[in-house]
Amino acid sequence: MYIRSGEWVIISKIKYQFISNRKIFGNMRFCVILCTMLAGLIPCLATLFGIVRFYESRAVELRTAEIQNQCTILSNQLSAYGYLSDPTSEVIDSNLTQLTNIYNGRVMIMDEDLCVIKDTYNLDEGKTNVSENVVRCMKAEPTNHYDKKNHYIEVTSPINLPGKKKIDGVILASVSTDSIEVTKQVFYTHGGVVVGIAAILLAVFGVALANKLVKPIHKITGAIENVSEGYSDDVLHVDTFAETSQLSEAFNKMLGRLKQLDDSREEFVSNVSHELKTPMTSMKVLADSLLEQEGLPVEMYREFMEDIAKEIDRENQIITDLLSLVKMNRTGQTMNIQQVNINDLLEQILKRLKPIAEKKNVEMVLESFRPVSAEIDETKFTLAVSNLVENAIKYNHENGWVHVSLNADHKYFYLKVEDSGLGIPQEDQAHIFERFYRVDKSHSREIGGTGLGLAIARNAVIVHRGSIKVYSEEGEGTTFTVRIPLIYTTVPEGVGR
Ligand code: ADP
Repeated sequence: MYIRSGEWVIISKIKYQFISNRKIFGNMRFCVILCTMLAGLIPCLATLFGIVRFYESRAVELRTAEIQNQCTILSNQLSAYGYLSDPTSEVIDSNLTQLTNIYNGRVMIMDEDLCVIKDTYNLDEGKTNVSENVVRCMKAEPTNHYDKKNHYIEVTSPINLPGKKKIDGVILASVSTDSIEVTKQVFYTHGGVVVGIAAILLAVFGVALANKLVKPIHKITGAIENVSEGYSDDVLHVDTFAETSQLSEAFNKMLGRLKQLDDSREEFVSNVSHELKTPMTSMKVLADSLLEQEGLPVEMYREFMEDIAKEIDRENQIITDLLSLVKMNRTGQTMNIQQVNINDLLEQILKRLKPIAEKKNVEMVLESFRPVSAEIDETKFTLAVSNLVENAIKYNHENGWVHVSLNADHKYFYLKVEDSGLGIPQEDQAHIFERFYRVDKSHSREIGGTGLGLAIARNAVIVHRGSIKVYSEEGEGTTFTVRIPLIYTTVPEGVGR
């Protein structure tokens, strides 16, 4: 089975979408892997940095408290030994050395004039230290400060001589926090290894997850690609996820519709060929008969030529009907909507068909219950009504009647075409709107039908968003009812297939 132009557009659109999705496949995989890794790694890294930060602040806090303590002890010793007036105490010196060694720091002792009387680095002795922390400490505001950038803690402690409240000096201790930095590095190294292992595991998990997600899409793409090469009867089942299950269900539905369209087109083409061939064959037979026999009387020629002319008319009628049907299929685009007085229009149609009715002595009555004006495409609507009334005359008895009535409510107008004709057997009623369907082929041919009249009428009604129904009793007559909205709205898709 092959696909024709209209279907190609649909398939190409879907194919295009899925082919661009193919490019996304790589990206989709990449995205899933990336998301998985980020979802795993961000909490890991946040935890690692959180732990290190907590450790650092806690370690600095403890170290500061420890130094502060040592400075207070030292301050008491300095007071006890009167170090500020005589800075030669060996005990104090050895304590200072011990303190600086343990904490890898520097201790400076300033007197009340902020003159450095002792510097364990022996750099600033005799100089004046007016740093902010020292000045604040002299004002009885002991300070401590952590310099994160240069890795040290600075602590100041006041020195009070025994029995005096006045501050006589300041101890300034600066200790290194290198050991804290080293521990931080250890944390980072070990944490980094753990994060690295987690990243590998997450990547593996991400790849597996991406494959699981992409696989059903791959399967659906494959199925769509197969469709473009030709239909297969396989039904697509991708039930991995609810979404893919819905997608495959929609795909199967679309494929079913395409197959249906394809079948209907094939049937239509074969019907058209058959219908067009029949008058041709008759003409050929008639012409051959004339050619084969010589010396035929003129009347015979005339009779045969009349038959040939009838077949030409029939061929012409089929082509006219086919063109009407094709035009009707171009839904919406060819609609020429105007406000039309339906009462007047029906009167004109019946007037035009009167000669056909008179030939059969069929009485035609138009009954208008109210004036009706509606938004319609006059040409298409006229075609529908003409076909219904023509049928009511064609499939009627001599001296029969056709009754056309018009009514309306606030939303729709209603048209009824009743006849006293042959009626349509129950089993045929469901098919009469199909193209080329005729109840009694030989009779219909004799009457001059093409089998397209009701298909045209139905399409003309549907493009107006209306509906058409048939009620019939064989041998008693037929009634067609048409309902059309007074105000035209856009035409539904897929009409006239
Ligand atoms: P046709 O060109 O053969 O009339 P239509 O599509 O108009 O084709 O109608 C399809 C068939 O439905 C006709 O062949 C005829 O058998 C039947 N039919 C349509 N209208 C009537 C009617 N008013 N009374 C009886 N039979 C009808």
